[in-house]
Amino acid sequence: MNTKYIFITGGVVSSLGKGIISASLGKLLQARGFKVTIQKFDPYINIDPGTLNPYEHGECYVTADGMETDLDLGHYERFTGIHTTRENSITTGRIYKTVIDRERHGDYLGKTIQVVPHITDEIKRRMLRSDVKGEDLDFVITEVGGTIGDIESAPFMEAIRQLRWQLGRDAVCVHLTYVPYLKAAGELKTKPTQHSVKELQGMGIQPDILVLRTEKHLDDALRMKVASFCNVDLECVVQSEDLPSIYEVPVNMQRQGLDAAILRKIGIPVGETPAMKSWHDFLDKQRSAKREVHVALVGKYDLQDAYKSIRESLNLAGIYDEVKVKIHFVGSQGITRENVSEQLAGMAGIVICPGFGQRGIPGKIIAAEYARTHDIPCFGICLGMQMMVIEFARDVLNLEDADSSEMNPETPHNVIDLMEEQKNITQMGGTMRLGEYPCELRAGSRALEAYGTSSVRERHRHRYEFNNHYREAYEKAGMKCVGVNPEADLVEVVEIPTLRWYIGTQFHPEYSSTVLHPHPLFVSFVKACILQASDLARQ
Ligand code: GLN
Repeated sequence: MNTKYIFITGGVVSSLGKGIISASLGKLLQARGFKVTIQKFDPYINIDPGTLNPYEHGECYVTADGMETDLDLGHYERFTGIHTTRENSITTGRIYKTVIDRERHGDYLGKTIQVVPHITDEIKRRMLRSDVKGEDLDFVITEVGGTIGDIESAPFMEAIRQLRWQLGRDAVCVHLTYVPYLKAAGELKTKPTQHSVKELQGMGIQPDILVLRTEKHLDDALRMKVASFCNVDLECVVQSEDLPSIYEVPVNMQRQGLDAAILRKIGIPVGETPAMKSWHDFLDKQRSAKREVHVALVGKYDLQDAYKSIRESLNLAGIYDEVKVKIHFVGSQGITRENVSEQLAGMAGIVICPGFGQRGIPGKIIAAEYARTHDIPCFGICLGMQMMVIEFARDVLNLEDADSSEMNPETPHNVIDLMEEQKNITQMGGTMRLGEYPCELRAGSRALEAYGTSSVRERHRHRYEFNNHYREAYEKAGMKCVGVNPEADLVEVVEIPTLRWYIGTQFHPEYSSTVLHPHPLFVSFVKACILQASDLARQ
């Protein structure tokens, strides 16, 4: 079968959950046995979101091949289990860079380079994944960031218009809009949707499917109204009501026949509705999870999306043990020696978050110390692991001025130091140690017990590392370097085996946790938190 292309655009307002709809659709097609990928095209000019402040853009997600990407790729991977790559996250910046580099190279000699056709051709090439070898995909789902009508997304819309025309039935357009409920009038309003579709039609794109986001159930009469105003079949007007969990969305979409409607549009026999048993088993567990376990997230960004993958990894790990992990954000800037016991009171576990720069560092170190000296399960991720290492040096190895050379380049005890390969780097974008690297785990370690295997591969995003010069001192004093990169000899995992659960990882396990396969370290951590919660309850 020819590869089919599904384009997903959004209208009316942002934050409607286009990423979740794209991921859900990917899941549903995958459940029908199709080979699928999902890609995101973002209209901003940064080459990637790696240099963006999480307050602007939420978490930066990292693919196995080392691309810093939009957090929606995290949803795609968590829902479908597929590994996305650098080809799945494209920005206007990358498109322009390719075209401008080509122009400088002389590839267009004699020609005036223009948005149409040069930029739009490059967008089309990437939407079609023409350069990606050996994929043999049945479906490519392309989500376009931003909202219809944005000036910067116009070239993407033009590319979709052209592709629709070129591909005929092999392309389908899904448009996500919003149906607000006006309390004062007691009515649901379809006008914004009509306007949004008109805008899309004005760009030459007729949507095939409309997904209406709504807080209240939409009845058939309202769907019929939208269908007739927007030239869309009734069965192609689907609603996406607020649900208790994003993981309910695929099932809700399947119930309304979203995937079946798409197959019909394309001309593929619909066949039986897949049972998706393991997904339903997961949802059953999620629904029956009543017991709450409280976990502190010690970080500096008080924004839901800033630690998206960590939050989801904790939630997913809990569900398999039928507990609800209640995450409490604790701003590290506000943690002091005096208030730490109050700030972390009642917590069955502590996660010390990744990050960069000075802000909130002392609070993270105090939290690590509190967890270690009170034997509270503690998971340090990347910068979090580095803070565990510094805290241990200061308090146990008696190196009072121990630090990371990121925070204090002059420290005499740089227990965390800039990696050799980073020393001559001056460019900021895309130059960290990124993506998957191997790690060997020590026999008898808790990390190995969690994974059940000694050779693992995990994703990275950092410039600093554990300084091997101090390794022996740590080992002797009880912080064990139980995970090491076999090629570069970099310390990847530290743990204190005498404690209930005290593990720091230089890598980011949160990027590879999925709905059907929550990450073993998160599973093991949450189990330790459950035990801790039981102890707390007994006290
Ligand atoms: N700032 C630290 C480093 O670059 C940690 C990075 C992170 O937490 N992702 O090594």
